[in-house]
Amino acid sequence: MQTGTIHLVGAGPGDPDLLTLRAARLIENARLIVHDGLVDPAILALARPGARLISVAKQRSKHTLPQEDINALLVREAQAGRDVVRLKGGDPFVFGRGGEEMEAAKAYGVRVEVVPGISAANGAAAASGIALTHRDSASIVSFVAGQCKGLSDQDWAGLAGKGRTLVIYMGVKTAPQIAEKLMADGLAPSMPVAVIENACRPEMRVLRGPLAALPDLVEAEAVQSPALIIIGEVTARENAALEQIAAEVAA
Ligand code: SAH
Repeated sequence: MQTGTIHLVGAGPGDPDLLTLRAARLIENARLIVHDGLVDPAILALARPGARLISVAKQRSKHTLPQEDINALLVREAQAGRDVVRLKGGDPFVFGRGGEEMEAAKAYGVRVEVVPGISAANGAAAASGIALTHRDSASIVSFVAGQCKGLSDQDWAGLAGKGRTLVIYMGVKTAPQIAEKLMADGLAPSMPVAVIENACRPEMRVLRGPLAALPDLVEAEAVQSPALIIIGEVTARENAALEQIAAEVAA
């Protein structure tokens, strides 16, 4: 019996139109899909009738399946001769544990294909009109995880500030510590920030404010996961442009 292939597939940020053609074809033809909670139901609806869908949804408090068990499940299915579509939100290699699953598969000699997806940062930027880089505002962009163990031990020095854009994944719950950490690193309390909740989905919200007000913004607006926090001058460009137009009209 031939071992199956594990396809580590990025599902993008939500809208099925943002799937790659490769991802859409794999989903449509799959017999077995192992997916995360972040994968939009509209994307799972592309699976053919009779396909086996296994959810390994992870939520901060309840881990339905520990990572080792997910790895073992993928390898076991492939060793039983089945191709597996392992479907993940965004891109498999951006805070998606795709690297761990690939390594586990390779350790057992199982073939792996990685299909990139539009990561939340790219989706949120496009949907909110925030250019992550801009010749007048930022030439460096960094992606960080706001919810890893030991947030206070992570060295973010130099990642945010003038000319730089910082994109924080999984930062809703830790927004107060994030704001504090960045200001302790010397970032101005007035540095503009945007929070993009449910990017690329019908219920998307874009909230803006200064860094010092980030914790209040998240709390007052009851921001829910999934949401991204973007820190940097690029998040205020639209406002700056609008204000300039308003000033010109008023003049
Ligand atoms: N692999 C994924 C990231 C997984 S980590 C990717 O490349 O996008 C999960 C985090 O991604 C969430 O906590 C949130 O910060 C972000 N995220 C995922 N989908 C999102 C969406 N539609 N809108 C805003 N943030 C999103």
